Amino acid sequence: MKGESKPNWVTCSRKLMEINGLRISNRGKQINPTSDLLWYEFKQPCPICGHDDWCVYCPETNTVRCERVINDYGRPYHKLEGEVTTNLPEPKKTYDVKTASDKQLDVVYRIVLQELGLAERTKQDLLRRGLTEEAIAAKQYASVIPDTALIQWDDVFERAGYDKDSNIWRGVPGFSKVKMNGEWRVKFCWSAIKGMIEKHDGPFEALLVPYRNERQEIIGLQIRDLDHPKEDGSKYRWVSTAGQVAGSTVANRLNVNVSVYSPMINDIKGGKHLVSDSAWLTEGGLKGDIITEKVLERYFQGDDTLLKNGFVSLAIAGTGSYKLFLEMLKRMQVKSVIVAFDVDIEKEQVRNSLNALVKLLKEEGYTVKKATWNIENGKGLDDLLNNGYLPEIVEI
Ligand SMILES: [Zn+2]
Repeated sequence: MKGESKPNWVTCSRKLMEINGLRISNRGKQINPTSDLLWYEFKQPCPICGHDDWCVYCPETNTVRCERVINDYGRPYHKLEGEVTTNLPEPKKTYDVKTASDKQLDVVYRIVLQELGLAERTKQDLLRRGLTEEAIAAKQYASVIPDTALIQWDDVFERAGYDKDSNIWRGVPGFSKVKMNGEWRVKFCWSAIKGMIEKHDGPFEALLVPYRNERQEIIGLQIRDLDHPKEDGSKYRWVSTAGQVAGSTVANRLNVNVSVYSPMINDIKGGKHLVSDSAWLTEGGLKGDIITEKVLERYFQGDDTLLKNGFVSLAIAGTGSYKLFLEMLKRMQVKSVIVAFDVDIEKEQVRNSLNALVKLLKEEGYTVKKATWNIENGKGLDDLLNNGYLPEIVEI
């Protein structure tokens, strides 16, 4: 055995290092989502095929994955002579794991939200916005607090019936691996928590809002620091670990929150695909949830003027992603929509997105209506309904 403590790698330049006499990139990537091994591109001819590109090397197993020459078993792996390298430099970057299926996201996010629970201030905030205790519980809002950083997620999943080797968290945005005291640990929202610890002197609370698909599976989470909006003034951002070790991305998904009256969630869940003739369209998952609750609350109080316009709301996270509505509307066989965005739209970009959305919906043959109201009675439709007012609904 060679001396364990002396590194057998040398950094040659910013992008290049030498390990076991091979010149490779210093950016490792995972090529198998179920394995932590990192593979590095050659910055020299491949020792197996002699070509300059494509083939990769794994120092931890001293193996080449050659894209041109297969081994005796028909596989691309070639183990080299000599020792493996265990004391590697910190990887510069790993590529994301493929994002998990909706079904797996739902399983993992439900476990996560249950484990996190709801901190008091976050709960008071939701009650103030007009949600009932029952709705808050059914929608499974949760809080991220400083202690969230200490959770041992492997143990949490094990208690829920998924052993460590199942790696059930893999491909679920928000999860990543972080090296602590020489050991890789599974963490949730790690960089967000670190960011909030830096910003806040004392304790903090952040709200997690689940986004549900047309089967009421939780497929994404948005997070809002209760005290600090982002620099551009927006309050929410996606829980994502794109570009982090064993992380995954929320991009390229149908990130629309399909919101139904909270007691219905568990009736629909279990594979039933929601369809509806009409739907409310808005921006912000929580806003969508509140609108749906209020529509049904009013109905049970004997007023069906809102319910006539639809019992379900679809919410995108930002007006820029308005095209996502189209795919969800098709899936849910919607024919008529009520556009209900905030009335104080000042940003030209947002106005343009809305105009483009209305145009697109009309071109696609939807009946398009718009909810309008006096801003003094509420900024968003959620506030308006919570304040006891009704919008005016006009066809456009
Ligand atoms: Zn090769």
